[in-house]
Amino acid sequence: MVGEPDRTNSASGAPFQDSGERGAGSGDRVDLALDPYEWIDRALVTIKQADWHRSPRVIESLPGTEVVVDGCELLNFGSNDYLGLAGDERLIAAAITATQRFGTGATGSRLTSGHKQLHQDLENAIARLKGTEAALVFSSGYLANLGTIAALAGKKDLVLSDRANHSSLKNGALLSGAKTIDYQHCDLGDLRQQLELHRTNYRRCTIVTDSVFSMDGDICPLPQLLDLAREYNAMLAIDEAHATGVFGATGAGIVEHFDLVGQPLIEMGTLSKSIGSLGGYVAGSASLIDFLKNRCASWIYTTGLSPADTAAALAAIEIISTTPQLRQQLWQNVTCLKQLLTERLPQLPLIPSASPIICIELPDARTALNIGSQLQQAGIFAPAIRPPTVPTSRIRLSVMATHQAWQLERLVTAIERILSSTQLS
Ligand code: PMP
Repeated sequence: MVGEPDRTNSASGAPFQDSGERGAGSGDRVDLALDPYEWIDRALVTIKQADWHRSPRVIESLPGTEVVVDGCELLNFGSNDYLGLAGDERLIAAAITATQRFGTGATGSRLTSGHKQLHQDLENAIARLKGTEAALVFSSGYLANLGTIAALAGKKDLVLSDRANHSSLKNGALLSGAKTIDYQHCDLGDLRQQLELHRTNYRRCTIVTDSVFSMDGDICPLPQLLDLAREYNAMLAIDEAHATGVFGATGAGIVEHFDLVGQPLIEMGTLSKSIGSLGGYVAGSASLIDFLKNRCASWIYTTGLSPADTAAALAAIEIISTTPQLRQQLWQNVTCLKQLLTERLPQLPLIPSASPIICIELPDARTALNIGSQLQQAGIFAPAIRPPTVPTSRIRLSVMATHQAWQLERLVTAIERILSSTQLS
């Protein structure tokens, strides 16, 4: 790919070193008369020059397949609400009832004054869905990943992390102080080589992976990862953020998809995608969960999940467990969109995907922004994803169970029209 600057720190999301940066050890004298905040404006200029500048856009409607973005009605292909539950009236009703009964906030951390039966009910429901002994809910998926990896590993340990893992996993590894090595994306040969070279030099080892990679849409080779974990006496932590509710006969995720429920694993995830609420979770053995309650800073030192978020997530898990039709509808839509795209646009540079996340790879950030804005003019919301979130720019489409056939058709027609007038290389 051409045109993308180097990523230097994908975990922090820092685009690249700010030119003219001075620091300890540079040999230059630090001028104490300078404005200590001035560097922020220079960093912003650098970000803008690379076409990497981002800012949030206002969504004015309920979540769904049609949304109002910055005042325009658009078909929504930019949501992680794969089952269409975030705007579901049953979740909304559960959130309202819980707010009326328990108030708007948990008012304290779970270990002090913020623990409610509702939290326990949700944790039991997650453990049932996942087939694990126990589960623990966090204020977000990010905090679940960050805190869990940091609690499981320390300075004497080794963390082996897929290069394409989510920022929360990468930052968790950094925070742990463990020796961290990024192995090549889904590359079992590279992972084995790293284990062979380094495993015996460290006390404990954790292999860390997304189950569905959020910005490519491919899935990790879980059975083989589990074999390697066994062979090298390593723990395996898997982030099911984009798989829960989507994969597996009962919606338990990639672990269920590969028929590996009950294996020794640390499962993490979010309540904010298929589950349509806010929060995160860890599921695993009872001792793992007990240990996290005592050692995981991002759970111990933060306020418990709000009653509304907790109740909405609980209602969603009930729906996911009892309505397989939603998942079937989602997969029908995924198959239909992939078929339309490959039949009508055989040259389209699609990143190989096994999930509802479908990405069109583009040569650079400017092209991605340009195509994203042309799609918006055609009535389609599909975000341009650029570095440092990903190594190469792309348009990311995500399919929902609630998309209608005409909406998929309109998306493909718009892509067809835009690409016929755009040079991609
Ligand atoms: N893991 C992955 C793979 C994700 O894509 C995300 C969110 N984009 C998270 C974790 C974080 O989840 P949350 O939004 O609940 O913080």
